[in-house]
Amino acid sequence: MGEPKHAFLVTGGNIDSMVNHYSVTKKRRKEDAYTPGGNVAGKRPDRATIVYSNLIRQSFKGVPIIIGGIEASLRRMAHYDYWSDQVKRSILLDSQANLLVYGMAEKSIIEVADALSSGIGIEHITYVKGTCYKATSTKDLYDAVILPSYKTIRQNNEDYARSFKAQAQNTDSITAKTLVEPYSDREFVVQLPPKSILTQSEFDRIYGLPYERNYHPSYEALGGVAAIQEVKFSIIANRGCFGGCNFCALTFHQGRTMQSRSESSIVREAEAFVWDNDFKGYIHDVGGPTANFRKPSCRMQLKNGVCKNKQCLFPEKCKNLEVDHSEYVGILRKLRKIPKVKKVFVRSGIRFDYLMYDKDPTFFNELTEHHISGQLKVAPEHVDHCALSYMGKPDHTVYSGFTRRYDKRNKQIDKKQFLVPYLMSSHPGSDLHSAIKLAEYLRDIGHQPQQVQDFYPTPATASTTMYYTGIDPRTMKEVFVAKTSKEKAMQRALIQFKKAQNYDLVKEALVAAGREDLIGNGSKCLIKEKTGRSQRNQDADLYLSSLKKKKGVGGGSDNKQKSLKKSKGPGGQKKSPAKGPSKSERPRKKKTIRNVHKKKK
Ligand code: SF4
Repeated sequence: MGEPKHAFLVTGGNIDSMVNHYSVTKKRRKEDAYTPGGNVAGKRPDRATIVYSNLIRQSFKGVPIIIGGIEASLRRMAHYDYWSDQVKRSILLDSQANLLVYGMAEKSIIEVADALSSGIGIEHITYVKGTCYKATSTKDLYDAVILPSYKTIRQNNEDYARSFKAQAQNTDSITAKTLVEPYSDREFVVQLPPKSILTQSEFDRIYGLPYERNYHPSYEALGGVAAIQEVKFSIIANRGCFGGCNFCALTFHQGRTMQSRSESSIVREAEAFVWDNDFKGYIHDVGGPTANFRKPSCRMQLKNGVCKNKQCLFPEKCKNLEVDHSEYVGILRKLRKIPKVKKVFVRSGIRFDYLMYDKDPTFFNELTEHHISGQLKVAPEHVDHCALSYMGKPDHTVYSGFTRRYDKRNKQIDKKQFLVPYLMSSHPGSDLHSAIKLAEYLRDIGHQPQQVQDFYPTPATASTTMYYTGIDPRTMKEVFVAKTSKEKAMQRALIQFKKAQNYDLVKEALVAAGREDLIGNGSKCLIKEKTGRSQRNQDADLYLSSLKKKKGVGGGSDNKQKSLKKSKGPGGQKKSPAKGPSKSERPRKKKTIRNVHKKKK
């Protein structure tokens, strides 16, 4: 690798390397859809941005290093790192980079490149919005917010929560102030306010560039890159999200103000698909972080910025929220009419509450009729009011209303399209009682999810702050957090209470919560009492211990069970444990009054 003209630009890839490498239980993942060959994990190092930057620094001492991308963006200030269970410093310090560009950063990086190319030294680029830099003093900063120091937030949970809250309130390009995080008297990380959002023409220009829409041809021989399948014929139509889910870091990366591409730009991109030999007529997605958000949530925010202390959809719809799907409907209609396009799917998440607030049913009707590929995935995440309020999600009644409307609509159009709810276990605020409520709901609707997502504490979310500190940064009040692997496993098992392997955990959870009423044969019970089976197991144990006594064989109880399963009769025939031992092998019954009387008869 040669020395660049201006600077090294380093990212960890399009997914955080730790999320990419480890599951929520901190087990190493076996597959990596972003690596050629797919089934090969571990081609990138853990904490890739730090590793790459330090390697560069070893070889090129004086060359500027600028880090960016999702991994750097969400770790720009000190943050709780779930994988090491520590509060880490800003990635700017650990990477030894000179500058960090956060967010989508198209405009910031151009301004930085212009500055470097005009001869300004990297140490003097301390004015570009959307960047963080290191400083030895704060004396030149105007109207900056000094956050609690790194040392303080490591020692004090309230200070950590306060720091997070201040950062969350300064993510809007109109109202945000400069933030300063002290590390010592002579070391500070300075975060300048976010860069202004893209205008529609800027957005169109960026997405109108002649991208290859494929991985590098050299990866073909290795089996290609699996992740391309989902995105190759998908169209990014918007960015930003005013949904405000507490477990999502999007506010820190793209902000709450919606930005969207024009209809003509989106249609042009789709028209180009038909010239691709791989295109079979299916557009996989037309969306963004939330498919059905196209416009800013209200007009006021364009002048005043988004509200610092208020959410647009939580705890209920803001009275200023403008609900309108008409432009999105128009775009989808145009895409459907493109020759050789057979189907246009919407696979990005739909905010069902926003959809329900729309008095015009056109979007809902056309979505269900034209844009669902057999099942619509939505994210109610939970049903319990308490858990939902810590997630920042709408009340369960909104989701219930949506499911009824969805069922009715499918009957009208005579389609069997399933609704698949994404559900999350062990989110802060969700205790065993919340998890049982969710299990009861699943029992009532007759649905057993294939997969359950445990809450994953990733950097830069309010929920991760709750997880680490036990404090809700919105209110600074304490919140319950399920932290032990046992507690988490019980919540997860309750969501899949029908799975045989979850029986013991579900029973333990129900007993611990004092909900034994849900164990038994009643129609409302989640699991049955296992009395019959345990009696059989006791019989089998009795039989095996008699054999052991007879033959003098050793072995623990696990071995006994295995040998019982594998035991074969004469001629290699399997001996059924249910039939039991032959008469001569049976342990002699104890003489009791009843036995003696029986014999006499
Ligand atoms: S006024 Fe309402 S809709 Fe507008 S930004 Fe504030 S909370 Fe959102």
